[in-house]
Amino acid sequence: MREIQMVDLKAQYEKIGPEIDKAIKSVLESTAFIKGPDVRLFEEELQAYMGVKHVISCANGTDALYLAMMALDLKPGDEVITTNFTFIATVEVVALLGLKLIIVDPEPGTFNISVEAVKKAITPATKVIVPVHLFGQCADMESIMELEQKHNLFVIEDAAQATGADYFYRDGTKKKAGTIGHIGTTSFFPSKNLGCYGDGGALYTNDDTFARKLRSIANHGMKVRYHYDDIGVNSRLDTIQAAILRVKLKYLSEFNKARKAVADKYDKAFSGCHSIAVPEKARYSSHIYHQYTIKVKDGKRDELKKFLESNNIPAMVYYPGPLHLQKAYGYLGYKENDFPVTAALCKEVLSLPMHPDMEQDQLDYIIDNVLKFFN
Ligand SMILES: *Cc1c(COP(=O)(O)O)cnc(C)c1O
Repeated sequence: MREIQMVDLKAQYEKIGPEIDKAIKSVLESTAFIKGPDVRLFEEELQAYMGVKHVISCANGTDALYLAMMALDLKPGDEVITTNFTFIATVEVVALLGLKLIIVDPEPGTFNISVEAVKKAITPATKVIVPVHLFGQCADMESIMELEQKHNLFVIEDAAQATGADYFYRDGTKKKAGTIGHIGTTSFFPSKNLGCYGDGGALYTNDDTFARKLRSIANHGMKVRYHYDDIGVNSRLDTIQAAILRVKLKYLSEFNKARKAVADKYDKAFSGCHSIAVPEKARYSSHIYHQYTIKVKDGKRDELKKFLESNNIPAMVYYPGPLHLQKAYGYLGYKENDFPVTAALCKEVLSLPMHPDMEQDQLDYIIDNVLKFFN
């Protein structure tokens, strides 16, 4: 049996390597390393896939969030509401821009931001809601957009873990994760569902004014060469990464389907095990399983993790600590018991190996070991 990885990028490269090599070589030969033709072509192809009017590429998913917040022209002290159960990048940009960070609990089942908790957190100073489509499944966007309408807010979707997930409206129509709010952001970090071979990121918007502004601030705020309308930064997607992403975008649907097939087998195998809760599926979203995250009951999570590791099965805790207890965010003044849902999740969640190149014998071995632990 092949060694089991959380994400097996080597197995993937063995399959698509020749195409990737060819794409990289053509950039090397062109020497158009910055803003080469592949960057624009990738943006256009991703636009078509996402069904969104504008895609603006940038250097990474954290920058995408930073650029999105910059584009809103907020004032220090304006409030930004997001979830306490996410990767740190979602909140650090809020802090860096001097905005007031308001964190709320997620829903215990879907792990995504609780709309009820957001409702309670809204004040006259609230300007932005940042839902995160965690682990590959959309947050309840229709309800969030209703709050946005009612209170005249901005919505920035952090779609770094959900490239390709569909959101289903109550009337049956659907949109891709990241294309519903004012601005959506994503990351092409290698282990993401659409990952490059280094750092990369992008923003989505259907708004021409935001698109222009984002493109400008991602490139030093430059309107025409050496004329600056905005204060900007340098945040660009390398041509080599864009060329790699053009190859990988063609496989995204197939890879996401393969992840779903792995998840379905995990679900089925664990359905009779009372010590495990399999990931809850929201009625309003497809799931592309960036992570397959179970909840382990009775305080057995760490023991199960150790048992699996001793059998050469990696397993990861995303995320081990709530944001409000991190030293850097102590200044927010939250108290230890302010977020009971996050606190419980941090003790229960465990992500199992999940990637499109999982082989049947590997999957059987993981499932057998998880079940063996509880028997
Ligand atoms: C990966 C990730 C980011 C940041 O992306 P980088 O490209 O690593 O900067 C932001 N938010 C979430 C939810 C992520 O998973």
